Amino acid sequence: MINDPNPPKPALILKEIPAIILEVKKAHEQLKNYEKDFEERTKKFSNLTQTMTVNFECSLTREPIKYAVFLAECFKSFKHYDSIIDLEQFLKLNYSSTAQQATKVFSCPICKTQTKFENIEQAFFPHLIINQLRSKCGELPQHMMYNFADKTFYPLHKGKMGNLQNAYFEQIAKLMKKEIRPQSQFYQIAQSLNEHFSFLFYNNCSLSSIKVMIPVRSQKCNHFEVYDLTALLYHFDKKEKQFKCKRPECKSIINEDDLCLDKDLFNSCLKSYSFRFSFIYNKDKRQLEDILEEKQDINLVKYRQFNKASEYLNYQSKIYKLVDQIYTSPLNQDRTEEFYTKHTVDQIASEKLEFKFCQFTGQRIELPCRCIRCEQIQTCDLRYMSCILNQFQNPAETKMVGNVIDSCPLCKNPFTKKVKPKDIALNEQVYVDVKMMNFITITTGFLNINKKDFINFLNNKLISKVIVKNDQESILKGKQAITTIKLKCPISKLKILRPIRGNNCIHPQPFEQGIIDLHQDGEIDLNQMNCPICETKFDYFIEDNFLKDQLQIFYSQNLEECDSVRLNIMNDKISIKPRNQ
Ligand SMILES: [Zn+2]
Ligand SMILES: [Zn+2]
Ligand SMILES: [Zn+2]
Ligand SMILES: [Zn+2]
Repeated sequence: MINDPNPPKPALILKEIPAIILEVKKAHEQLKNYEKDFEERTKKFSNLTQTMTVNFECSLTREPIKYAVFLAECFKSFKHYDSIIDLEQFLKLNYSSTAQQATKVFSCPICKTQTKFENIEQAFFPHLIINQLRSKCGELPQHMMYNFADKTFYPLHKGKMGNLQNAYFEQIAKLMKKEIRPQSQFYQIAQSLNEHFSFLFYNNCSLSSIKVMIPVRSQKCNHFEVYDLTALLYHFDKKEKQFKCKRPECKSIINEDDLCLDKDLFNSCLKSYSFRFSFIYNKDKRQLEDILEEKQDINLVKYRQFNKASEYLNYQSKIYKLVDQIYTSPLNQDRTEEFYTKHTVDQIASEKLEFKFCQFTGQRIELPCRCIRCEQIQTCDLRYMSCILNQFQNPAETKMVGNVIDSCPLCKNPFTKKVKPKDIALNEQVYVDVKMMNFITITTGFLNINKKDFINFLNNKLISKVIVKNDQESILKGKQAITTIKLKCPISKLKILRPIRGNNCIHPQPFEQGIIDLHQDGEIDLNQMNCPICETKFDYFIEDNFLKDQLQIFYSQNLEECDSVRLNIMNDKISIKPRNQ
């Protein structure tokens, strides 16, 4: 071997960005005392503000953060905190050509501070907080609130709930600091209840039916269902200081002091998509999993075919990114307002409207959306719509699609490509109807999601707490008693044809189901009213089908009107006789 004393200087070889990222990360792992350094700088910052909002977006490109960094000089002189640079995005913009890679200096795109370096890995420091938070989240992280002082964090609601969350900031901070109670954690409850099977779990607040962001339950509650902390704090603040747990089997009293965070569920919520409501509890792994890990989304499968599972997953991640982008856009609120200002309730009432199932996929509409050119009230699910948008944007993807559509499936108006800067971006040509979505969400558990209730909802009349359940046994069954009931409803004075009682009522006297129509028409307010017989509150109503059948027989046999009847209850039989006869 001959050693050339003057080897020719090698031409600069273009380094690949993934290789550089690995190099930088490796160098960062070797940093000594970095956590302490970082902490010290954090402290300086926390003197100025207690919290920061983390949106997990690269401040340069708005792309999701994968690995957050500071430029070295910005970190040393501690220039800024909540503007985040993603390493990959920065390198793509500033270090992807041989000319760029020959320079040994970067200028910070945020504060213009210059960072000189010999080797590329010296140019950056990791943003520890962002990277730690990022690792706790799934593919598309939600916006979060981070508290410097307590190092606590929680995901943020959007829109109106987001404002409330801000208002109850201090109470939330207090709860997040509270010690975790092992018995009140999801997996521990599953163990104590001996759950030996996998089951579907809906992550809806038992009080407000909204999607749970910060899951809490009372220390005395022994069920899986939780409440959303913000919804609870609002309720305590504006309605009542405490209430009986809304779960039918649970006797505990819910108040602020007794609440405990369910960290298991909290962690699962962080990992799940912003627009998902349900989990599967996997009995083998003893874990809550996003329902999609188990099954393919039919909204997507109905749109195109897949040959391999990997192909599906690839596609799903693309579509969901788009769904998430549209779902979390603040434009939804504005566009929804616009739509309902332009279209009167009377106009909407005269249109045909299918709420429950999407006409294109046959699936439940969970994320109702329409395009900005749509004039009709009818929506379809955002996941299906996003498949169309994605294909419009990437014509190469039309291969596997049975039916290629370049227009809104609802109104048939074509989508437009963004050519000039002032053109509307494709993902802004579709919006979620926030009003309709709220309606669908609060009516979860309703037997009927229907247009009439929606119209009432638009008129601010429908109150979600009034529901009619007919899956429960009559309270009269199995008893032995002789008692009198009035045949005129004590509330509405209507003849009782469809007997119902409040959920807390244990008296034989029923009410007529027509009171719910009166409530929805705004003539009475059942939420403000206590039961005129037993003084309890109405959370919902239970229909008594057993008594209803008996009353029908009685009416058909006794054509003469009478005000009261005598009930003779013998186990599972009732005889009804007119009173005073
Ligand atoms: Zn800077
Ligand atoms: Zn409970
Ligand atoms: Zn349309
Ligand atoms: Zn009552």
